[in-house]
Amino acid sequence: MNYRSTRNSSLKVTSAHAIVKGLSDEGGLFVPENIPVLTKEEISAFGDMKYSERAYAVFSKYLTDFTPEELRCCVESAYNSKNFDSDNIAEITKLKNGRYILELWHGPTCAFKDMALQILPYLLTTSAKKEVSGKQIAILVATSGDTGKAALEGFKDVDGTSICVFYPEDGVSPMQKRQMTTQEGKNVNVCAVKGNFDDCQNGVKAIFTDKEIEKKLSDNNVLLSSANSINWGRLAPQIVYYVSSYAQLVKDKEIEYGEKVNIVVPTGNFGNILAAYYAKIMGIPVNKLICASNSNNVLTDFINTGVYDRNRTFYTTVSPSMDILISSNLERLLYHFTGENDKLINEWFTSLKNSGRYEVDENVKKQLSEQFYAGFCNDDETKTQIRKTFEGEHYLLDTHTAVAVKVYEDYRAKTGDDTKTIIASTANPYKFGRAVFEAVGGNAEGDEFDIIAKLESKTETGIPAPLAATKDKAVRFKGCVEKQEMGRAVLDFLKS
Ligand SMILES: *Cc1c(COP(=O)(O)O)cnc(C)c1O
Repeated sequence: MNYRSTRNSSLKVTSAHAIVKGLSDEGGLFVPENIPVLTKEEISAFGDMKYSERAYAVFSKYLTDFTPEELRCCVESAYNSKNFDSDNIAEITKLKNGRYILELWHGPTCAFKDMALQILPYLLTTSAKKEVSGKQIAILVATSGDTGKAALEGFKDVDGTSICVFYPEDGVSPMQKRQMTTQEGKNVNVCAVKGNFDDCQNGVKAIFTDKEIEKKLSDNNVLLSSANSINWGRLAPQIVYYVSSYAQLVKDKEIEYGEKVNIVVPTGNFGNILAAYYAKIMGIPVNKLICASNSNNVLTDFINTGVYDRNRTFYTTVSPSMDILISSNLERLLYHFTGENDKLINEWFTSLKNSGRYEVDENVKKQLSEQFYAGFCNDDETKTQIRKTFEGEHYLLDTHTAVAVKVYEDYRAKTGDDTKTIIASTANPYKFGRAVFEAVGGNAEGDEFDIIAKLESKTETGIPAPLAATKDKAVRFKGCVEKQEMGRAVLDFLKS
């Protein structure tokens, strides 16, 4: 299996190369040259496998330059009960009316980013051995909350790597800050920046292109890399849980093999729902892929009209991980929908860069409307959905998953489609305790730990151990730098 770039389809690289590089030189994203198909026998066999074996089966189709031993080592190091609080890794909870909640937050940071970031360090170090043998990998991350912590937990004490995370001093939730500043591990560094998320992101980008820093690091045998969500090494692991959950529902006799399901995904950067699309092409019978957004509804408009327009108001919502106006992974879907037409992709994404807008052609519009449904809801509707689902079914949704459930309810009311439906649940409710507590009628006064304690006594749902544990952990990282000092901070940390 080789990988092409969405902006240069004559390029041909291995998966190891795609994972080490992250982004192609001309700015395109790496995509597999064809999407492998799983047979009925292969999918059915998943029923009796552990999650790590299912992951192995999917990866062996995509990462063909990895040896079987390497792949086994990657999946077993990541998907085990040391890292996840459930042997199943991803859990499925059945709600009323043919809805299945696919809980992707049983990892160490209680958000779905763990599903990919627990394995990325192993995929990356294995790839680096093939591509840039002998180098130490230093990961730089700019985060607005969830990704930073998940990357820290993933790379913590992984041989051959170190990781440095920058976050905006006043731009993350108290719980997210606490999770990051108490991070354990010998090879980690966390640093606040006086500025907002864009300052952090621009600072990190500047470090990547700074020749002087590159030279100093390379003299010390260090190579900078990123754990960004456009990396193929983050996308491939997300395909696994869609294939896995379908096979599990068949095994549990909830559906028959061949029966179509809808898949609903609360969407930001379009990574998670793109993985569901890949699972569909690989052979999972899917009726509709349902893309759920919050008030930042650029994707809803795009899927419904074919016009992508980021020139609009940016809203800060109770589902902050979906507060995004540029959904990077959409580029991969469009590449497939245009029949791998890199010329069109270049045209559209140049237009996006220059004017913030592009419009796709009729062929793409048709495929979008056949395969996808899109909807959005605002914060009030999100909170109402949390209350309704809790009162009606005693199931506590987080703010992101609630957006998905609400958009699905709207879809069902509008279309009458009663196909069984898998709803991706992307965070544990305690991660966004304040908004969730308000949604179920609580008075959210006090600090983050007071609030989650009150949420627990009101709802009698358990606080996940990793969140509870941060309360008594020592704060290890108190540093805060000006945005111009981020490069220096990296060099100091890496002692270069
Ligand atoms: C990152 C994230 C999302 C959005 O996922 P994409 O792959 O970027 O679409 C949704 N919910 C939560 C909780 C997240 O952390």
